Amino acid sequence: LLADQAEKEIDDETTFIRRGENDCRHKLHKNSDRCVAPETKDVLPDASSIFVISTFCTECHYYFDIHVDYRGWKEGQTPCKLSDKENLLHHFQLVDTIYAKDQPSRLSTPKSKYNPIIEEHHFCCSQPNCPIRVQINISAPRLKINLLAPILDSFKVRARGLKQIQQEPNRFEGLEPVSPFQALGFLRQYVSDAKNAHNLDSSPRKIAKRNKKFALSFGSECEELFEYLEFQTIIEDSNGEVS
Ligand SMILES: [Zn+2]
Ligand SMILES: [Zn+2]
Repeated sequence: LLADQAEKEIDDETTFIRRGENDCRHKLHKNSDRCVAPETKDVLPDASSIFVISTFCTECHYYFDIHVDYRGWKEGQTPCKLSDKENLLHHFQLVDTIYAKDQPSRLSTPKSKYNPIIEEHHFCCSQPNCPIRVQINISAPRLKINLLAPILDSFKVRARGLKQIQQEPNRFEGLEPVSPFQALGFLRQYVSDAKNAHNLDSSPRKIAKRNKKFALSFGSECEELFEYLEFQTIIEDSNGEVS
């Protein structure tokens, strides 16, 4: 699928010019939890079918969601399929592109902090009787690098851990500073717990700032990150009363 005209061949080895030297050569990985796929490859689509392949690039961390939608299927239409000798495969043509910065009101879903969409590309099949529609949504990474810097920098994370341990050697006895990988893992767990609580409509679990894991990984240097993620600071006395 190409959103724009294919680049011209530049030599006999059919290599293509990339737009910019520094453009990412995306390495896409599927995020299975966010995919909606047919149960088996023998399931035929019908007018209620919509499938989603959700991917992210491990290099630039952008998201690429590919929606395959049959819901516009009109009576008498037939999708291309392998058993149809004349229309074995879909041949997609770009019909619309929406850039969030230029036409935010035309996006299928509004851009927000939790939906950092930047581009939408819409395709249809050149076989006029085929009902398929494909939409590719490209979204920026959900967390900006400046918010993550305090936990991605291994020197900072180590220094934070060592400082905590030196301040309270008895409390942190036997513990080592954490790695950025561990800190990211803890952050992921906090976000996932909060999301599950939100989905179940229950109160989110509290994280004590004095918690050893929290203190070693984040301390006070990551407040901006937690505020951005809508965690709230509450002050409790020793009986658990909120003030
Ligand atoms: Zn990439
Ligand atoms: Zn088709």
